[in-house]
Amino acid sequence: MTTTIGSTVLGYPRIGPDRELKRALERYWAGRIGEPELREVARGLRVDTWRSLHEAGLDSVPGNTFSYYDQVLDTAVVFGAVPERFTALGLSPLDTYFAMARGVESTPPLEMTKWFDTNYHYLVPEIGPDTRFSLSDQSPVDQYQEALEAGVTTRPVLVGPLTFLLLSKSDDQAPESFRPLDRLDDLLTAYAELLGELHRAGAEWVQLDEPAFAADRSPAELAALRAAYRRLGELTERPKILAAGYFGDLGEALGELAATPVEALAVDLVAGRSALDRLPSVRGLADKALVAGLVDGRNVWRTDLDGALSTAATLLGLAGEVAVGTSCSLLHVPYDVEAETAVDARVASWLAFARQKVDEVVVLGRALRDGREAVADELTAARRAVADRAGADSVRDNRVRARLDSLRPEHARRGDYAGRQAAQQRSLRLPPLPSTTIGSFPQTTDVRKARAALRAGRIDPATYQQRMRDEIERVIRVQERLGLDVLVHGEPERNDMVQYFSEHLDGFASTEFGWVQSYGSRCVRPPILYGDVSRPAPMTVEWATYAQKLTEKPVKGMLTGPVTILAWSFVRDDQPLATTADQVALAIRDEVADLEAAGIRVVQVDEPALRELLPLREADRPGYLDWAVTSFRLATSGIADSTQIHTHLCYSEFGDVIDAIVALDADVTSIEAARSRMEVLDDLNAVGFARGVGPGVYDIHSPRVPTAAEVTDLLTAALAAVPAERLWVNPDCGLKTRGYTEVEQALENVITATAGIRPSL
Ligand code: GLN
Ligand code: ZN
Repeated sequence: MTTTIGSTVLGYPRIGPDRELKRALERYWAGRIGEPELREVARGLRVDTWRSLHEAGLDSVPGNTFSYYDQVLDTAVVFGAVPERFTALGLSPLDTYFAMARGVESTPPLEMTKWFDTNYHYLVPEIGPDTRFSLSDQSPVDQYQEALEAGVTTRPVLVGPLTFLLLSKSDDQAPESFRPLDRLDDLLTAYAELLGELHRAGAEWVQLDEPAFAADRSPAELAALRAAYRRLGELTERPKILAAGYFGDLGEALGELAATPVEALAVDLVAGRSALDRLPSVRGLADKALVAGLVDGRNVWRTDLDGALSTAATLLGLAGEVAVGTSCSLLHVPYDVEAETAVDARVASWLAFARQKVDEVVVLGRALRDGREAVADELTAARRAVADRAGADSVRDNRVRARLDSLRPEHARRGDYAGRQAAQQRSLRLPPLPSTTIGSFPQTTDVRKARAALRAGRIDPATYQQRMRDEIERVIRVQERLGLDVLVHGEPERNDMVQYFSEHLDGFASTEFGWVQSYGSRCVRPPILYGDVSRPAPMTVEWATYAQKLTEKPVKGMLTGPVTILAWSFVRDDQPLATTADQVALAIRDEVADLEAAGIRVVQVDEPALRELLPLREADRPGYLDWAVTSFRLATSGIADSTQIHTHLCYSEFGDVIDAIVALDADVTSIEAARSRMEVLDDLNAVGFARGVGPGVYDIHSPRVPTAAEVTDLLTAALAAVPAERLWVNPDCGLKTRGYTEVEQALENVITATAGIRPSL
């Protein structure tokens, strides 16, 4: 081994410590700044990142981690995979790029979907038999040189060719039998060309990311991986290759990659700890560097450095070099815990954001190279923080523990459905095809302003409460006028369906600057779930009961389910997720009971993230679904048969969670269906789903107002699949992001269509 990697991170946040890129992008899109100003902001962020990583002491600094929008989109553009509909627009390269990301009036954007099991979204490249792969002007070589000029040698990071094609979809012209992976050879030619250019520019290393192999892959895909890296490895003109797999154990792919001439492999030893058992029997590592991903790139806790070093020690001798790194890119954590002001100081002392994780990697690297004594102080500090967290009173709540211990299977069971259905009909007296909405009504600027004013102390809580009440009254009156059957209060008091609950529960911390990119310029600030969860006081009862007092019609209480709360938070790593889920479930359960006691007869518990947390590997799924379903049932049992439980899921492709949806045992499930034209109902029938179902008849993702005739068509299609007694009428999702005018028109058409069909039932 001539060169080493030493310490490194696989990637870094890019939106800017103060979300500078977000602001610049939005100003550019609004036409308020030009391309040169945007490029200058981007350049500044890149240079700052390279310098800070270099100065922190990383032995190998990742490059090309910047993106104006998304790294998968970048890869498509770098290799010329730009669909004709975008090149035809005749825009500048940058605007063509943004058109692919966001669409323009005449042209829809690329589809966007979740990046593995994270909350980051990437744009799905469209590949066909005729896609011409060729290196574009937008090349990582420029950024490599730009970094050099800034005094930093980088290791350009690219999405690997297999992962790129496996995440792509076939374009419209492709025949049925076509798979993007069919184009691997041609794509590799373009990768080879790029590697040659990087080599000529002086790049010593390049990193190719292949997280797609942390999921189950077919023998053909594994063979393609091996063949591809053999081909790239055999190039004479290329940088050394670090092939990185993350978000889990690479499984068999590890052996395949080790059998190729690449110089280094990065493995995720946090999400893919099982790789530790596999590594000793992997052949071919002796002359490679192994980057041990010991620092969690997905979560915010300080690393147990002693533990990480012990793990690293077990690897010594297995590979030519044992280097240390993060488990994955740091894109998924906020920038800097030092900037944080909102988090309690003691909790903050347990945290490491991206900048701190870089330091951890550097310390681990030095310990491996120079011995533990060289970093004795850092190790002591880390040990103290880990011990302080483990022993903190705020993390353990014995009452919560005792309650969890006393749980029995019957706590997650309701009465039989027939009895519930009869009791609910007696209580609610709903017409056939009852109509409702998913919960939120448009969030007006006034509502947002009131929340900002409360936060800034410009208005007092009583004034805020009154403003929310006014809004709730308006929402109730709108629904009464339209003739909806089960009303909602409209959720004006909620900034976000998870944040709202985390702010009202013990065991969570909220951050002020803990932004993480979700897609493009959009960022989220996930709460930090650090301790046993409990509910100091009711969270939603006041709003729901206020709404109920205004109307004779039933008002639906609106809660977020345990799985979704976990999925959109940073979670504890010191106990099984299932335990945390049950704690959250008990808090929600108490809220459901309080709503019922306060006279609310319908409660909806949203679980839009049920599918998101699904493990990448099939073998891990039954275990997940088991605890996920149990936590929902725990949250929604323990009430009278007459109380109706609804749930809402934000997608129509259930795939592997469809049996779990049946097992949730909700009385009514609303789902997305308008775009897929009710096909989802056949899928549900196929697994014997026999509860109330509300397939969305109004696509709220579009500003288009559906006509009554369109809704009638959808309802007619739905009635062909589901008996009228089980069918509900509702939009696809919450109305929060829409405007009042369009929403009122759309709902009016929905009601007109429903009224038109009812007499024929
Ligand atoms: N009740 C929530 C709303 O209507 C549900 C949002 C969601 O499904 N993502 O906004
Ligand atoms: Zn939804």
